Amino acid sequence: MLSCAMIAGTSLLFNNATAINTPGEKSNFNPAPQKALPRIAIAGLAIESSTFSPALTHEEAFHAKYGASVYSSYPFFADDSPIRKRAVWLPSLIGKSLPGGAVTREAYESLVNKTLDSLKKNGPYDGLFLDIHGAMSVAGLDDPEGDFIVRIRKVIGTKTIISTSMDLHGNVSLRLAENTDLITCYRMAPHEDAMETKQREVKKLLQRLESGKGKPAYKAWIPIPVLLPGEKTSTRIEPAKSIYEAVAPAAAQQGIIDAAIWVGYAWADEPRNHAVVMVTGDDKEKVTGTAERLAQSFWNARSGFSFVAPTGTLEECLNKAIASTKHPFFISDSGDNPTAGGAGDVTWTLKEILARSEFKSASGPSLIYASVPGPGLVQKAIAVGIGGRVEGNAGAEVDARYAGPVEISGTVKAIEYGGRDAEVEVVVQVGSVYVIVTKKRKPYHYEKDFTRLTLNPRKTDIVVVKIGYLVPELYDMRADWLLAITPGGVDQNLERLPYKRIQRPMFPLDKTMADPDLSARLVAASDKAFQRN
Ligand SMILES: [Zn+2]
Repeated sequence: MLSCAMIAGTSLLFNNATAINTPGEKSNFNPAPQKALPRIAIAGLAIESSTFSPALTHEEAFHAKYGASVYSSYPFFADDSPIRKRAVWLPSLIGKSLPGGAVTREAYESLVNKTLDSLKKNGPYDGLFLDIHGAMSVAGLDDPEGDFIVRIRKVIGTKTIISTSMDLHGNVSLRLAENTDLITCYRMAPHEDAMETKQREVKKLLQRLESGKGKPAYKAWIPIPVLLPGEKTSTRIEPAKSIYEAVAPAAAQQGIIDAAIWVGYAWADEPRNHAVVMVTGDDKEKVTGTAERLAQSFWNARSGFSFVAPTGTLEECLNKAIASTKHPFFISDSGDNPTAGGAGDVTWTLKEILARSEFKSASGPSLIYASVPGPGLVQKAIAVGIGGRVEGNAGAEVDARYAGPVEISGTVKAIEYGGRDAEVEVVVQVGSVYVIVTKKRKPYHYEKDFTRLTLNPRKTDIVVVKIGYLVPELYDMRADWLLAITPGGVDQNLERLPYKRIQRPMFPLDKTMADPDLSARLVAASDKAFQRN
């Protein structure tokens, strides 16, 4: 049923835009074809949020940008960029949060309604660039991205071409597949191609509008019953390396617009959480054949996916790091990785480290721990200043399931203000351990995150970070690396998670499952899908 809020999707594009106007209008002769620029909206909400974490995400975590400030999130939308000149851009709202726990219903409704209000004001639109992650969990609402795009359609109508760009750890429900027109995701993990992917999707939208080709004739969607942690699907190593290297050539074929493989998101318990392949284009055989080939390659490789680094219990990892001659020796504290959706304040690992005799004296092996939120301790550190002694608790305010607050007693080595996420960061030395305590949780992904706190990770024996696979800067710095399977809201051992609602059978939880049907499903075009909503 069409909503009365819908604005008729009148094409403002070209008088002779065949794919947008009805065939009867095609012959309208315009003696001086004046190409009007397409009108394209920009919108999107991005977060991956774990339903296995007790944390909740509120609206302010999205750092929403409105109107012209949206351009600052994309280098390719800079004032003097060629892309800016190819359309009348109408930015609505872009919100991007650190991963975390489920988004509150209140925050979701507020952000969605602000987006819809702005879209209502500036329509109609020839196109909409939808920039989402795809793994948002909202308390009490399944498939939020599917809900979001249907509500957008109710405002902008069905003639507008929606081009959706996603993270490969997002989920593509049938509803999302039907209601978007173009769709893609990253081809690299870690996501070194994130901005390139968004730019590609914007360019493909422009090409479809400028050429008059409009919506793709075919969209193939193949759900694959595989659920893997991102740490087993780094495209730096096989089998994901070869699988993902095949995506760009597949997308470059004549008759194909784009091709993409989603690993999906393992830490939310919904029917949509699994891997997906989608291919869009105008050549039916190539679209379906390419999708089936990519899906089959992913399924065939399912048993080969393994962790990007050797793994172990925390005790095993610490023993090896202490005995090693390779420094800095990185250890990923993976169960509470805030960039996958962990609360970021689990204290279990830090408590274990501080209890080890090797680190009790300042002459022990040097170890940086990044990080634990402790606003109270940060306040005390500010009061005594650098060089002062501080004592207090940190962590376990959100996720205390594995350990309570950690007692930290030591010397303040650094105090830094102004981080967007942390707000205030302090370093407290306890024995030979340098604990980074933050006012709010923050990921530590860059060398400067450490050096601005007067820490030198390159000259430190052991660096423990709440992270999964090492991001490029840390990876390049490591002399050695182990991934510790630690407890938290993003436990890497999926078999420990209490799934109830994902589809079964699912690999690797159901090890003896039969081969699934991986034939391509041609999903409804967005206008047909919308009429059902
Ligand atoms: Zn991702």
